[in-house]
Amino acid sequence: MSDVSGNLSIVRTAIRHAEDDFGREPNTVQLVAVSKTAPANRIVPALEAGQRLFGENYVQESAAKWPALRERFPDAELHLIGPLQSNKARDAVALFNVIHSLDRASLATALTREMDRQGRRPRLLVQVNTGEEAQKGGVLPADIDAFLAACRDTYGLTVEGLMCIPPAADAPSPHFALTAAMARRNGLSALSMGMSGDFEAAVQLGATHVRIGTAIFGARAPKDAPTTIAGRS
Ligand SMILES: *Cc1c(COP(=O)(O)O)cnc(C)c1O
Repeated sequence: MSDVSGNLSIVRTAIRHAEDDFGREPNTVQLVAVSKTAPANRIVPALEAGQRLFGENYVQESAAKWPALRERFPDAELHLIGPLQSNKARDAVALFNVIHSLDRASLATALTREMDRQGRRPRLLVQVNTGEEAQKGGVLPADIDAFLAACRDTYGLTVEGLMCIPPAADAPSPHFALTAAMARRNGLSALSMGMSGDFEAAVQLGATHVRIGTAIFGARAPKDAPTTIAGRS
């Protein structure tokens, strides 16, 4: 068992140092604490230590864990960072404040329908598949400008930024730089990139949201590595 609040404070300090080292304005990088597979009793210490942004991968797991946590901490902000099936759009719109994994027209259609139906508008980021990996979600780099234009013009969706997950075998920085360039030329301000092993490089290249799980909550079972498709939600 690791000490969640101690880990959290180490991670926060490391993010502040990275901002400082790379000439970023102080407190411009937000920490999304990735609590997938962590039980509620491991999440509470993070909430008690003041953490408010949390990332989850699975809609069903989040629906089971978070309503009770939110009763105690109503200002917790929930970010969906895992792949989203269109048939879970209803639950996702109901539950999440921010969705980082919009990546195809059918999902844009499903989200638009649910947002109109529920009168809730989660903030949206589009996931980019910078490594062009077959097993990973995300829009291919060559298609990103057209997809963002369709989100705006066809679906009436406001997209705040881009999210990427570099291939595990690659140096992450070129993927972060590519994602930042795509966001810049499309006028998008949010950049969700960087995990436990590479968040400093992401901060250097402009991340506004780093998604950190292991360094806060400890190691997970291997099937929940960020690159697998098993357990798509
Ligand atoms: C699990 C996951 C993370 C967190 O990864 P760690 O290496 O545990 O920090 C970040 N982003 C996504 C999309 C993930 O699935």
